[in-house]
Amino acid sequence: MPQHLAVTALGGSVATDANGVEAEISLFRTYDDLLAAAPGSLNGKIAVVTQRMVRAQDGSGYGAANPIRRRGPSEAGKRGAVAYLLRSLGTDNHRLPHTGALNYDDGAPRIPAAALAIPDADQLERLAAQGPVRIHLLLTSTVRESAPSWNVVGEIKGGERPDEIVLIGGHLDSWDLGTGATDDGAGVAIVFGAARLIAGLPQRPRRTIRVVLFGAEEMNFSGAAYAQAHQGETGKIVVAGEADFGARNVYSVQLPAGAAASDFGQTLDRIIAPLGANLDRRPALGGGDDIRELQKAGVPVVSLRQDGLDYFDTHHTADDTLDKIDPKQLNQAVAVWSAFTYLAAASDVDFRSLAPAAK
Ligand SMILES: [Zn+2]
Repeated sequence: MPQHLAVTALGGSVATDANGVEAEISLFRTYDDLLAAAPGSLNGKIAVVTQRMVRAQDGSGYGAANPIRRRGPSEAGKRGAVAYLLRSLGTDNHRLPHTGALNYDDGAPRIPAAALAIPDADQLERLAAQGPVRIHLLLTSTVRESAPSWNVVGEIKGGERPDEIVLIGGHLDSWDLGTGATDDGAGVAIVFGAARLIAGLPQRPRRTIRVVLFGAEEMNFSGAAYAQAHQGETGKIVVAGEADFGARNVYSVQLPAGAAASDFGQTLDRIIAPLGANLDRRPALGGGDDIRELQKAGVPVVSLRQDGLDYFDTHHTADDTLDKIDPKQLNQAVAVWSAFTYLAAASDVDFRSLAPAAK
């Protein structure tokens, strides 16, 4: 008996033929099962991966599941599949699929790829357990001419050390299904809010505060473009951080390695404790997609951890809308970002010198 499935094309996916593609499916309950499939074993099939993404406060379930979306289409294509479907990388139980970018391998056939709403992935698991399942998939995605995108930069010039920069940012772009309220309208609002509060103080901070609103995070272009355009300034950036994890409260702050025990770390801890956040003794491993290139070039990064337990319920879906945002929690995030940013700009902390020597 035919059933409709709720799907959405992945970002960067090729379209199907105008008539769509119809084939029997090969269903894999884990991504590793797909990787274990022999070359040619998926010839003419639609590969379906239904591995679940784990709900976690720090969002670690998303990082772990990410290759299923990014690399899965090429892995299925290499094994002969004619199309690829995955269970949405999400933690909800709604019929709104989650999109997101894929990365085709240069050496693999480019096959159409889409995400299934989570209840539809469950349904396919049940049906596949009973016998062969055929799917007809129609994707009409298009790739348009390249167009410019802009990183928007603003500054509060430091009063004493204008050449030393505390860089904070978020990203302006979002996926087309929703409005991008939490990804990443909230992050833009948080860093803007922090800068606005600091700009309203009677005295300028000693160091410069630079706010960067990145223009193309979702396709992974803006961070590299920024790092390249500002190559000469890398050594002047004291620290960089990005707010790109929704609109909920910040529960902990991870500083660059070696800084938690410093005077800076202790002072920050005292300031953010009454706001309901604490200093994490573990150093920040990363600060966000858009500042990764700066980090690679040696810029210390900070990670202000927001509660992400329900972030992936609406992430990259039609449901990423403003009503999901609790102004109280957003205000708390602005307060913690303000505290960190102001303190970094008011102090003379040198995160590079605090870092333990490489062994
Ligand atoms: Zn984002």
